[in-house]
Amino acid sequence: MEIEVSGSSQGIDDFLRELPAEAPPLARIVSLDVSDRTFAVLDDFTIVTSHGGQARSTLIAPDVCTCRDCLSEVRNPENRRYRYPFINCTNCGPRYTIIKDIPYDRDKTTMAGFRMCPACRCEYEDPMDRRFHAQPNACWECGPQAWLETAGGERIAERDEAMKEAVRLLAGGAILAVKGLGGFHLAVHALREDFVSRLRQRKIREEKPFGVMFSNVNAVRRYCSVNPEEEALLSSLQRPIVLLEKLPCVQNSPIAPSVAPQNRFLGAFLPYTPIHYLLFDDSPYDALVMTSGNQSDEPIVMDNESARDQLRDIADFLLLHDRDIYMRCDDSVTRVLGGKPRPLRRARGYVPVPVFLENKGPNVLGVGAELKSTVCLTRNNEAFLSQHIGDLENLETMNSFELIVSHLKRILEVDPQCIVHDLHPDYLSTQWALRQEKVPLLAVQHHHAHIASVMAEQKLSGPVLGFALDGTGYGTDGTIWGGEILKVDGHLFDRLGHFRQVRLPGGGKAIEQPWRMVVSYLWSLDPENAERTFGDIFGRWPRQSLRVVLQMLERGVNSPIASSCGRLFDAVSALAGMRDSVTYEGQAAIELEQAITPEGGSYAGEVRKEGAMWVLDPFPMILQVVEDVRRARDRGIVSARFHNGLVGLLADAAEKVRGETGIGRIVLGGGVFQNAYLVERVERELRRRGFEVWSHVEVPANDACISLGQAHIGTRWLESSAS
Ligand code: ZN
Ligand code: ZN
Ligand code: FE
Repeated sequence: MEIEVSGSSQGIDDFLRELPAEAPPLARIVSLDVSDRTFAVLDDFTIVTSHGGQARSTLIAPDVCTCRDCLSEVRNPENRRYRYPFINCTNCGPRYTIIKDIPYDRDKTTMAGFRMCPACRCEYEDPMDRRFHAQPNACWECGPQAWLETAGGERIAERDEAMKEAVRLLAGGAILAVKGLGGFHLAVHALREDFVSRLRQRKIREEKPFGVMFSNVNAVRRYCSVNPEEEALLSSLQRPIVLLEKLPCVQNSPIAPSVAPQNRFLGAFLPYTPIHYLLFDDSPYDALVMTSGNQSDEPIVMDNESARDQLRDIADFLLLHDRDIYMRCDDSVTRVLGGKPRPLRRARGYVPVPVFLENKGPNVLGVGAELKSTVCLTRNNEAFLSQHIGDLENLETMNSFELIVSHLKRILEVDPQCIVHDLHPDYLSTQWALRQEKVPLLAVQHHHAHIASVMAEQKLSGPVLGFALDGTGYGTDGTIWGGEILKVDGHLFDRLGHFRQVRLPGGGKAIEQPWRMVVSYLWSLDPENAERTFGDIFGRWPRQSLRVVLQMLERGVNSPIASSCGRLFDAVSALAGMRDSVTYEGQAAIELEQAITPEGGSYAGEVRKEGAMWVLDPFPMILQVVEDVRRARDRGIVSARFHNGLVGLLADAAEKVRGETGIGRIVLGGGVFQNAYLVERVERELRRRGFEVWSHVEVPANDACISLGQAHIGTRWLESSAS
């Protein structure tokens, strides 16, 4: 916006100084240009209508939590919006999820069908009112309303009675589908095991933890430990889910065990819409499971019809309303790591705030990878990373992907000059890109994108040494990569090193069943004795399945070669007795990290040069793990020694590669760096040895960051081919 002021130079200086501090909560000052005008006395305050063309480059606000002012109105019996579930103002409420097109005016949102009553209209037109130009402005008279239905479709309560009845039902153990800001939640009383396990059975979600919404921060403290950074994150405008450690008295924790089975952490968040506050006011509970309302693996349900159709078998009742959700947007998930908040899933509250790039560049679309998919569209120096789309493994998620791409193009008014996709030919995102006509395509290697994503976010230009550690990604040589040292400069990279390779017996099966990775490592170490060693550790094991895996390895059938660090974690997790099979991605590694009993010992790996390539060899570490497991060493100690050993291995490799290349700037990327214990120690150790180190802060380190890295490489590629 353009602000014209007149006054003494002291007055103007004060104004400029106070502007950033006094700006409204949703304002974001990206840059501030000051210039002198011909002198004119301005003696009143006016807002001049904007010219159409200018509005185009404005940013669209994300959805943020109900503000203090609105909350006090909702709780004030004298106020005309007392207990109104859709109260909002210019400082709060829905934005991105209701906007169909730009410019951001009511008739281009899902509020278009609601005509403001005279009282609301007055507020909307008064520049001094908190609701001046609040597009979703509404009240009991003129705005959206809520109602309650049975799973069978019978309407049983309207308006305020619906909210009161919802509280009574939740208190009694019912499962409610609740329409929220970016989609539906399934809600249930979180303190009662019988209620929660019913939800778990119906949702067919074996072990993946449920998020829990608490009535306020004090309620969170009753169940979890909360440090000041975590409290700030919980109470921030974005209201993400924050992973918090459960209080030590786990057995006595009143939170139902099946909320987050075998997990030291709880995903906690606070109410962020008026409906949520109303579900806690006058309720006997202070914690509700609020998990996304979807059938397994499908996107979160966002409209009433789909909710009736898809959630009928899970929920007992549906709390619905008639304000449509246009853009689906899941809850964001974050974790404080090394003293900094970091996203694990970036969605509601953060999207569509762009990642600001160092330079302006051509407009490019990155279509991401496959798991935890996102897309990223750039406009000049802004990179718009989409919300979490999900795993691109079914038609529904793919439809959501296409909807998000076309919506981003429309609201940003950008047509990409290039589409960037992963090297993997089977990813649905790759196949989608290949179907697009008349746009140049660029294929980018997965781990190159991981490192470029950190570089984009941290405004780094090369050369840097990238340590990309994750599960799996398609390599340029046809093997699977996943533990890589890359030198990245501009849009180019060189592979300088990698973890020692092993086979993944059964391909995808080896990811679901970490015990297969144990067999693979043992077989690589000593093919003759692999079966016996495996038997020593795992005791009685179905001989048939073990033989099948060994045969695959011997014949090299259906056993791709991989340098994956994620699979190394899986193998160690299984060896330490954590689990032989997993029900969600990364589970084995997460549980291995959680088991750590911090101690100083460590397993030693080896770094050596093979031809032109540095090889990080964890095989000696596996032998030491086997040794400790045979001695029945505590799994917490095995886990700590493994983590410490990995820190040493990475730091040793960094020194050797620096010796050869002279590069001392290191970028850490990939899903393995969601491991708090590892990130904190790797960063500390590398700095101690004189390296500069960067990792993700704004964007998740998992594959959600791939589209940003792709887009960044795409802009650099276009620039270099133009010059
Ligand atoms: Zn407000
Ligand atoms: Zn009204
Ligand atoms: Fe990855």
